[in-house]
Parts: sequence; structure tokens; C-alpha cells
Amino acid sequence: MLNWLEKYPKNSPVRRAFAFAEEAHKGTTRASGAPYITHCLAVGEILNNWKLDESSIVAAVLHDTIEDTKTLLSDIRKEFGEEVAELVDGVTKITKIKYGGNNDVENLRKLVLSFSKDIRVILIKLADRLHNMRTIEFKLPEKRTEISRETVEIYAPIAYRLGMQKISGELEDLAFPYLYPDEYAWLVKNVKEKYDERATYADKLKPLITQILKDARIKPSSIDLRAKRYYSLYKKLIRYDMDFEKIYDFVAIRIIVKNIHDCYAVLGAIHKHWTPIPGRFKDYIALPKPNGYRSLHTTVLALDNKITEIQIRTKEMHEEDEFGVAAHWAYQQVKKDTPKKMDSWKGVKNKKELLWVEQLRNWQKGFRNREDFLDSIKVDFFKDRIFVMTPRNDVIDLPAGSTPIDFAYNIHSDVGNQCIGAKVNGKIVPIDHELFSGDVVEILTQKGKKPSVDWLRFVKSSMAKKYIRNFARGKNAKLQKSVPPSGVEFRAVGLNRPNYARDITNAFSDAKIGILITNVQSDNSSAFITVNVKCGNISHEKIEKMLVKIKSIQGIKEVNFKHTR
Ligand code: MN
Repeated sequence: MLNWLEKYPKNSPVRRAFAFAEEAHKGTTRASGAPYITHCLAVGEILNNWKLDESSIVAAVLHDTIEDTKTLLSDIRKEFGEEVAELVDGVTKITKIKYGGNNDVENLRKLVLSFSKDIRVILIKLADRLHNMRTIEFKLPEKRTEISRETVEIYAPIAYRLGMQKISGELEDLAFPYLYPDEYAWLVKNVKEKYDERATYADKLKPLITQILKDARIKPSSIDLRAKRYYSLYKKLIRYDMDFEKIYDFVAIRIIVKNIHDCYAVLGAIHKHWTPIPGRFKDYIALPKPNGYRSLHTTVLALDNKITEIQIRTKEMHEEDEFGVAAHWAYQQVKKDTPKKMDSWKGVKNKKELLWVEQLRNWQKGFRNREDFLDSIKVDFFKDRIFVMTPRNDVIDLPAGSTPIDFAYNIHSDVGNQCIGAKVNGKIVPIDHELFSGDVVEILTQKGKKPSVDWLRFVKSSMAKKYIRNFARGKNAKLQKSVPPSGVEFRAVGLNRPNYARDITNAFSDAKIGILITNVQSDNSSAFITVNVKCGNISHEKIEKMLVKIKSIQGIKEVNFKHTR
């Protein structure tokens, strides 16, 4: 019996889940030859270490039963209740998403997130992926590359967005050698000396820092040395033309103290002794990163005038950095009067603790910390969108409430025009059947069949509406040859001032135009800022009106638009 399991009493849901999964997976093994149940327990253990609630751990132990065994969702509901059943169902749906094909990476991330209305679903999936990556050497070589790519492109960025830096970094590092074997070998070989060199240096530095803090009467909880992860180092090296000399944070010193007051006190004491390098000081406590990351970062000329990066934070910030939303979850569990379950991404109540969710929510209301924000959050909100799949597992992005007709026109105008019915998840449905995220849709067509004006009553996508209307007008022949625009993208360059981006996006909401994607960039000098706003297809009149409106915004220098297809 594993240690972590022992803390749960006999007959507790966790122990029952273990027995249930063991029975369900009986006789099956992992690629390593180990009994399959070892994987289920490992995933449960990871969530246990993240201090997640019991339902999550039960669902983690059961997470592969529906996908891989004869177990039905109703069995799980009967044995473990609705909450666990929903978690397992969410994880199963994510597992079914097939990576590759024509799917856009960002769409896949959105698809994964849209199945994770309860945040615990994605946490279970991340733990699952973490264990699969930790045991990836047992897989066939081509499988390894495929899983690694999916990990780096889908799961590591999601973990990062959830503020789980450590998990995101570990996933990337596990995938790195399979994705870029040559680069990995080169890096390991070249970084090694540098790493040792820096480690020796950091060892010399530690007593000095201890003394500095002692003189300032600050008691640190710990002083650590952090080696940069290989994959993030690799990404950084690419940005710096593979020049090691330009990268200073191979090894960072991390000082952990009791409270925020002490963080700034440490900073003051350090800066008193060693000269800080201009432009390298970052106060992520006053201005946290969008994923919730908080710390003070400074780079100083330390011993022997060597450039050294130092991070200062509290213990709580440290845990959040490592475990992100899982740490928030654990804190929340401790408090009795806070809601036990986060119902949805939108339903999160505790603003302060779940800063990243708050920031996700307010993303279009403007933000101060531009670069970081854009790096970490490119997901627009999917509450108005659904993600469905073709039988070949390509992901199709449609407005909420869409029907098989919308889907068919999204595939091709001919498929839409000749649609006579559809199968959703293998079952025949009427053509006005409402689709939901995760549905697999197959369109049935009949040659020579014509679209019906009646369809306009229920279709949701502008693409479908346009084709049907045009067909009714007899203009379809012309239209089918050229793809109609699917949306409009505005580009507004202006002086960098607080709330500029917010004013732009507000102009759209004032005009009741739904924004699909917002993207903000600033130039090197940060004097100018460019806001790109993508919205659905709007009339030319509306476009003109928006241009006039945007031109009246303070600081605006240039605005233009283009149709997107
Ligand atoms: Mn699994």
C-alpha cells in the first residue's frame, strides 16, 4: 500500500476508487510492463501532493476507466456520485481530442479548456500528462515525439496560464530531448560547465547574503539556488542568437522570507551592498504577472562584479509559483466559508486569491502589464463559442447554439448546400439540432439537394446565413467560387498611455460588436502601442462607424482594417 493512500481511511471514497479502478484495469499493463493501476495511483498521488480535494483524487484514480475499460459513466455516478462522474467525464472528453491534422494549436488549447469548466478537470489532466511524460521512455520513438509535441504545445502553455510554473517547466523539460534531440545534447554539454561554474559561485555568495540579511535584522525562511530549466534556457538562447554571454540567469538566487514587508527590506539591503543593474528590477508583487506570479526580481553586480539575478518572495508566493491554481485551491479548501466548488471559470468569487482568473475575465477591459499579459494569455473567451469535431477529429470553431447546417457550411459551401441530415456522436439528429463542445459531427449530403430559406430561422454562423441568403437570391454560383470574409480585423496604433487598449476595446462593446480576439503589442521604445481587434463579419456601415469612433480616441495615430477569411 502506498503511503499517501494510507492517510485515507478504509472504505473512504479514495480507497474505494482504488479498488474499483484496480478491478476495472485488471490484467492490463502500461508500456513499461507495470500493472495499469500504477498509473492511476500515480496521478492520484500527484493531486494528493497538490493538496486537492477528495473528489478530485477519486476522479484521478478513476480517470482512465471510461476510456480504457468497460466501465460506464453511469457506474461511476452510482458508485461515487455526480461530482466525481462529471470530473471523470471531463477528463475522458479531453483524452479523446486528437492532436494533429489540420487543427490549430490555439483551438486545441481552447477545446481542452472548454471541457474544463470545472478547473479540477484540467488539473487532473495535467497530473495525468505529467505522469505520462515521466514514464515516456517506455513508449515507441514515434509516439514519444508526438506526445512530447502535444505536451509542449498544448499542456505546458495551459499549465503556465494557470500559474503552475513548475509543472509547465517540468513538462517542457521532459519533452525537450524528444523534440529537439540535437539541441538538447548540445545544451546539456555546453551548459554543464557553465552550470557548475555558477553553482560554485552561488555557493560562495550564499554566506555573504546570509550576512547581509543578518546585518539588516531579517530572518530568511530559506536561501536557494535556482538553475534555469533546459527548455526555457533553450528558448532564451534562441532569442539571444545562442550567445551564452548575454544570458545572466543560468543560476538565480532565491530568497524566501516571511512577509511582504521583509521582501522589500531584503531588496533594500541587497541594493545597499551591490549595485543594481538598471532596467532589470521588476516588482511583480505590486504588479503581479497575469498568471498570478508574484516576486521581486533584481539583477546586481555582486561578488567580483559578476552579474547575478536575485528573486525575493514569501513562502506563499513560492508555493503559488510552483503549484499555481492548485495552491490556490488548497488555500481555498482550508477556508470554511468560501465556496467549496468552483463552478465555472466565470463563477470564481475570490478575486484577490485568484488573480489570474480575474485577469482572464477582465482581459478586454484593459490591462497595465502588456507584454507579459500577451505572452501568457492569448485565449479569448469561449463562452460564446463551441468547439466540435469532424469524424477525422479536426476541430471546428462555431458560435454557441450552432447547428449541423452551420457546421456543414463551415466545412464547405457544397457540403452546406447539399446537407440533408447529420450524425452527432454517431446518432442521427435533425438539422436544427443544437451542437455542444466536444460533439463529433458527421454531415450527410445528397447530390443536387438545394438549401432552404427555412434554415435561416435557426442557423447561427454568419457564414451559413450568407450562403443561404445568397442561394435564395440566386447568386450562389458566383459566391461559391470565392470564400467570403469571416470577420474584420482592426489595427489601431496610438501613444502608449494607461487605458489606451481598454478605450479601444470599450469602443467595440459600446457599439455592441463582439470581440473575438484582442492582441496588443508595443514597440521597443514602448512609446507606441498597437491594438489588434478581431471581430465577426460586420457590415461596411458598421466598419466606417468604428473607424470614426476609434479615430476620436485620445492618443490615436493610425487606424485601419482588413477582412479576414
Ligand atoms: Mn491516464
